[in-house]
Amino acid sequence: MQKRHTNKWRTVQLSTRLITLGTVGGPPPRAHRAQSSNLLIVNGTLYVIDAGDGAARRIAKVGFNVRDVGVIFITHHHDDHTAGVGTLMSLAWDNQRTKPINVYGPPQTADLIRAAVQYFTISAEIRIADGGRTIPIDQLFFGHDVGTGVVYQDANIKVTAIENTHFAFHSGPAAGKYKSYSYRFDTPDRVIVFTGDTGPNDALKFTMWSRTHEEASHHYGVALHCAALHL
Ligand SMILES: [Zn+2]
Repeated sequence: MQKRHTNKWRTVQLSTRLITLGTVGGPPPRAHRAQSSNLLIVNGTLYVIDAGDGAARRIAKVGFNVRDVGVIFITHHHDDHTAGVGTLMSLAWDNQRTKPINVYGPPQTADLIRAAVQYFTISAEIRIADGGRTIPIDQLFFGHDVGTGVVYQDANIKVTAIENTHFAFHSGPAAGKYKSYSYRFDTPDRVIVFTGDTGPNDALKFTMWSRTHEEASHHYGVALHCAALHL
């Protein structure tokens, strides 16, 4: 998983890779592009950030097994960022994953994953009856509603969330009801910001980008994923 980066001045053993699985904006299906999804690999551990339609197929296309995805982050609940989550988890289970898959995101992420469990339980029960699988998927798939600030940390990454402006135009009963996040990932050798769908945003600029830019010289660069506003 590791990539050796060599230049005239130094040789650095990089532990972080980022693969953009899908970059198309908006829900219409496209013949040759997948919806929003990213694969982050740190010290050989896979993390998926958003999983729009096509995410699982794209993971296969770039040479990884969906079975190895155990942690997923969702920026917001537009379906072009979530439509592939249930499929990804179900295919991981089909491919003999026995460890939990944890999905982190704004409020209603736990509801989303419970709905995915319900949706795919019919297939899972048939496959258990077919033989070869024994673990009910409700013992493997877990959704977590997270707030802002540091929302996740393990030996490879620290993840910080802020609320962005994607849903700021909502009015009436919907005003403030739905949350859209941007995530900053700190890895041993990179700082990566996934903005999600958002526009100009002082909180993003000062909390995520400026800090990232300031620290970039210590982390050998920055990758920024940004889709269009209101998609
Ligand atoms: Zn959106």
